[in-house]
Amino acid sequence: MPILVMKFGGTSVADLDRIRNAAEKVRAEVERGYDVIVIVSAMSGKTNELVGYVEGTSPLFDAREYDAVVSSGENVTAGLMSLTLQEMGIPARSWQGWQVPVKTTSAHSAARIEDIPRDHIDQKFAEGMRVAVVAGFQGISDEGRITTLGRGGSDTTAVAFAAAFAAERCDIYTDVNGVYTTDPRITSKARKLDKIALEEMLELASLGAKVLQTRSVELAMRYKVRLRVLSSFEQNTETSGTLVCDEEEIMESKVVSGVAHSRDEAKMTLVSVADRPGIAAAIFGPLSESGVNVDMIVQNISDDGRTDMTFSCPVDQVLRAERAMTEAKERGEINFHELIADTEVCKVSVVGIGMRSHAGVAAQMFKALRDENINIKVITTSEIKISVLIDRKYMELAVQALHDAFDLQGNDS
Ligand code: ADP
Ligand code: ASP
Ligand code: MG
Repeated sequence: MPILVMKFGGTSVADLDRIRNAAEKVRAEVERGYDVIVIVSAMSGKTNELVGYVEGTSPLFDAREYDAVVSSGENVTAGLMSLTLQEMGIPARSWQGWQVPVKTTSAHSAARIEDIPRDHIDQKFAEGMRVAVVAGFQGISDEGRITTLGRGGSDTTAVAFAAAFAAERCDIYTDVNGVYTTDPRITSKARKLDKIALEEMLELASLGAKVLQTRSVELAMRYKVRLRVLSSFEQNTETSGTLVCDEEEIMESKVVSGVAHSRDEAKMTLVSVADRPGIAAAIFGPLSESGVNVDMIVQNISDDGRTDMTFSCPVDQVLRAERAMTEAKERGEINFHELIADTEVCKVSVVGIGMRSHAGVAAQMFKALRDENINIKVITTSEIKISVLIDRKYMELAVQALHDAFDLQGNDS
């Protein structure tokens, strides 16, 4: 029988009624003739609660124990979903990541899936089981420890299963009815897209549009998984939601197709470091080893052989970054006068494959921000995106201004 992967996010399984609602959607696909692999998230708020327990216990926690704790939310929903389906008379069974086993790297809290052996689940399908319910977000390392895939990682579990089982499609059920031109919670002018190019979705996701985890889009690209985002609270048809597909399948011709934001950023400046060969390596090596995800980097012009180095990272990594820099200074690898952390910034980006062939997008973006009197602190660009770091209090205003400036509310074509 053809296989379908259906993933339900936290709000879609937030309580027993919602789990029943999701199970009804699974039942409909089983009745249509699919064997279904259901990937579930933890109930909404659960993972945050578990992260809070870990941070309350140990601020610079051991990531192996973090994973042991935060992976547990998904285990509960997997079991409950399987029980709900059984109550409906549908043969179902649950799996935790290690039972499949979902084999991952040992990069705790940011592990990558390496292999998903099919044997156990295939055997159960062959014996008449119709639904395999798998706890998302988690796996097991070569060392036999539980790992997690980073926040939002159940999306990645879903796409990885769709690839491993050659599923007909991977449906991501969530609390919005598709991918929008920007987060619909920020502006009511956001417009749902019927289709979005994988490459654009990849940029939007990596720039903060959390509707899909970045890695899940990468996997969909690599393994040619047909990926759809749709609502778990609406009646859907074959064409509901947003299809994330190849560029060639899309007729729309806007230069900018979406605006993304990432709220919790920090800007850190090392004041007066020696401007010498190797200084960037001496700074960013220890940051990377400490697990700090550096995003934007700016080096000022040099004055008297010294310079300022500015970088951005997620705000919850500031402690780690400060520790890594202080230790590097103590070891004599770098020298700086001061380390300034600005924890009140955010990143706003515009994305569009049309930018490849259109000049002037950056100027238009900067003008729209200027008209709102928003100061830009750092800028980065790539072929199909432009990002700026600004004060967090202007985030909504900036997103709305850019959405208007690039006419994203208008109809497709
Ligand atoms: P789930 O719990 O189902 O995984 P998430 O909260 O991770 O759901 O992702 C869905 C949310 O993503 C939406 O509620 C919405 O606020 C947010 N979002 C951000 N950018 C976009 C976008 N461009 N289109 C749709 N949703 C977006
Ligand atoms: N529960 C995890 C999180 O909140 C994984 C997910 O929902 O995708 O990040
Ligand atoms: Mg999510």
